[in-house]
Parts: sequence; C-alpha cells; structure tokens
Amino acid sequence: MHFIMYQVDGKQYLGIKQQSHVIDLKALSDEYCNRFNQSPPVLLTDMLTLIQQGDKAKTYVKTLTDWLETNKDTDLSVKHLLDDVSILAPLCNPGKVVCVGNNYMDHCREQNVEPPKKPLIFSKWPSCIIGPEAEILLPENSEQVDFEAELAVVIGKRGKNIAEEEAFNYVFGYTILNDISARDVQFADGQWVRGKSFDTFAPLGPAIVTADEIENPHHLAIKLDLNGEVLQDSNTSHMIFKIPYLISYLSKGFTFEPGDIIATGTPHGVGVFRNPQVFLKHGDICTVEIEKIGLLKNRVR
Ligand code: MG
Repeated sequence: MHFIMYQVDGKQYLGIKQQSHVIDLKALSDEYCNRFNQSPPVLLTDMLTLIQQGDKAKTYVKTLTDWLETNKDTDLSVKHLLDDVSILAPLCNPGKVVCVGNNYMDHCREQNVEPPKKPLIFSKWPSCIIGPEAEILLPENSEQVDFEAELAVVIGKRGKNIAEEEAFNYVFGYTILNDISARDVQFADGQWVRGKSFDTFAPLGPAIVTADEIENPHHLAIKLDLNGEVLQDSNTSHMIFKIPYLISYLSKGFTFEPGDIIATGTPHGVGVFRNPQVFLKHGDICTVEIEKIGLLKNRVR
C-alpha cells in the first residue's frame, strides 16, 4: 500500500494512493462502520497515529480496502482524484530523523575517502521536513546548498537492542528523503546538524510504501535529476551498511519509536564533489526517483 497525507479545502486526510485517485481512509471507515453498525477500532486521522497503532491498524485497513474492492460498483464517496488534492509530507512529526553519512561505496570514492568502518551517524531536526509540493528555500547564510537522494526507512514499532535478524520486523515502510545540505555551513561547523537542518531541508515522500511491497530494499534504482539532467544514478545495492545492520546498531544505544525515520545515505553525484560544482539556485526543479517507491519533486526558491 502507498500511504499518503493530503489536503483538500484546507483539511488534511490520510489516504491510500492508487493510479489516478486517493482513497480517503477515514471516510471509507465511516461507510464501513455505518454499514455494519460498529465503531471504528482504530483512528485513521494521520500517518503517525496510524503507525503507532501497529498491526491492529494494518489489519483494519486491509479489511477496509478488501471491502471497497468487493463493492467497487457501489457509489461510495470515499475517493478524491489526485489532480484535485495537494500531497503533503507523509510524516511531518517523527520523533527522530536519523541519518547515515558516507554509506555508499560510490559516494566515498568520489570524495577519495575510505569507506567508514562504523556507520557515520548524524540527524536532521524533524522541523525541516516538507512535502512534495513545497519549495526548498535557499537560506541567506549559505552559498552552497546541495542535494542528496536517499532511501528512507520508516520504523513501525518500538524497539531497543534489536537483533539484525529481527530488524525487518520493525520496518513499517519506505519513502524518499532529499537530504538537502548547506555545504559551507556543514563543513565550517564540523558538526553537521545545523547545515542539514535549515527549514525545508528535508523534502519527504510522496508516499510511504509498506514493507510488504518491497521484496528487497537493497536492489532499487535510485536517481536524482536537476532540471531534467541526471546527476545521481545508482542502486541501493551499493549501500555499505545495510538496513538490518543499521537498525540493530542504532538500537543498541537508543529506543526506536513508531514513525522514526532512518535516511540511509546518498550515492555518488552530489553537487559539492562534481567538477565543476553544482549548487541549487532559485527556480531549479530537483527530482529524486527510487524504483518501486516513487518520485519526489521540489522547486527551489
Ligand atoms: Mg545524506
């Protein structure tokens, strides 16, 4: 399933994205509960609440979509045309955005650095998350705003000291994160968090694709294009530290909560290591595409 958050007439909804439309889950649940004279077993108001309710919510959503499928000729007004809605960030309020630096072999090579022996971890403040239709804002105090296409893992349940073999059981799904970075600030500070956390520096989405749809997250084409020119073109198979290892490694120190995000690192081709260098400028369109996950496009201002 492709879960999204979207807005119509100023109201926000949790939905499932299909070809040309989105199913309003709350409206579908209301129809279902009316028909069978029951109260809704879970809340379908927003993504974080959905994820926090765990397997119970997943099972109920499956019941709803199966019911809709068998009643598709009935006139249930539970769908919006995608053209009529604004798509928001799928998760705007995760507890943590954990990021992994230098996690692609090809990205280490372009910098002439040795691949890290242990994961290089930093974070972005959740407040810099924006949706697919929002603009990346260039801050006044940076001349070097760069892009990084990344596969993002969304954690589905609480856990600490998670074994590597168990790690995939903690994944709710996957989405795309563009790890926008003010390079001059990042490198001058030494500590990366400020230069990577300016407002709007984490475009996210459009959908969270549930883990059951992604057989192997380490075999997905990942690409970034700037105004139509492909600048990053790789595959998630080139990740140095794989997702189960990262989840296990990180959970030895802190507790993962539902909705936490891990940005798994970027492949080669980022602007700062190109010759000549490329940085974002007003009017640019930056598009990240990951096979089976989707396409995240943002304008720069
Ligand atoms: Mg990054």
